[in-house]
Amino acid sequence: MSTEILVRVEGLERYYGEHAAVRGVSFDVKRGEVLGFLGPNGAGKSTTMQIIAGSLAPSAGQVIVNGADILDRPREAKRQTGYLPEQPPLYRELTVDEYLRYSARLHGITRKGIDSAMQRAKSRCGLNDAGRRLIGNLSKGYQQRVGIAQAIIHSPAVVILDEPTVGLDPIQVREIRSLIRELGGEHSVILSTHILPEVQTICDRVQIIHQGSLVLNEDLADLSTGMPGAELTVGFREPPAAGLLKDTFGLAHVESIGAGRFRLRPEPGTDPTDELVSRSVSEQWGLNELTPHRQSLEDVFVQLTCGEDPSAESPSSGVAEEAAT
Ligand code: ATP
Repeated sequence: MSTEILVRVEGLERYYGEHAAVRGVSFDVKRGEVLGFLGPNGAGKSTTMQIIAGSLAPSAGQVIVNGADILDRPREAKRQTGYLPEQPPLYRELTVDEYLRYSARLHGITRKGIDSAMQRAKSRCGLNDAGRRLIGNLSKGYQQRVGIAQAIIHSPAVVILDEPTVGLDPIQVREIRSLIRELGGEHSVILSTHILPEVQTICDRVQIIHQGSLVLNEDLADLSTGMPGAELTVGFREPPAAGLLKDTFGLAHVESIGAGRFRLRPEPGTDPTDELVSRSVSEQWGLNELTPHRQSLEDVFVQLTCGEDPSAESPSSGVAEEAAT
């Protein structure tokens, strides 16, 4: 993936009356990157995507798409983006070809270039045989392909897809996902979804927005190796008391899981592993296991959007009762 930044979002805000739907959101998207945009209902995903696509004005902040500021040079910025909204903007009474021709003209493609642009978009989206079919008669999956075809017909640098696999059957989901993955090769893709495995399958990076603010922006590769503050399992031949471990390393939670093993939860942003190793040697605890707990994306999502760690059984002292072995 290139290091070139195609979308830069800085301090984005959007108010609906008094209500802040998006507050102070900043992030970048690189060329060739597929960015998964997650958040609970009403978190501000669609609002952010509409602003980047140039179909909604921000209340404050800046969005630059491939060098063009969406407020200063809106036409140029819009030329660089393709957008599939949550409700695809399809005309059911048109054929696929009629609709794509119309979309091509809306995107400012010259008369000469329209046929080849349509051919390219149809072939990428598996619509070669569907040109003469009425959109209203197509299955939901094919309608979604037409929605994606209109979003890429002008070969934009950035493709924005709002929940593109909602309502599709598993085979259609698989096809649309592989299409999105392919699009990521040439374009940058911003994808919102509620399906967490979808993000793990097709995205390079994930962002979580909660109540209008970004609470996570992480490479998927880094996320799979565990977040700072994630749990550890440790085991000792001569185990210290759980309370001693908690106090010595300033841990948020310690749970004994038997046979000299403990599950430890550090305070967020702290990493006690080096200290654990050196103290185990100096105190002769006989450290024989130290395994970082891998958090699933679902763990991270629930933790960040519910305000608490779902894995916590949270006794108030932070030290769980000694488990029976
Ligand atoms: P979902 O996952 O349900 O699609 P979302 O993360 O896309 O949610 P948005 O649609 O961006 O969320 O909405 C963010 C907030 O802004 C919500 O509280 C929503 O009610 C509010 N909102 C969105 N559009 C409008 C509008 N036109 N007028 C007033 N409030 C709005």
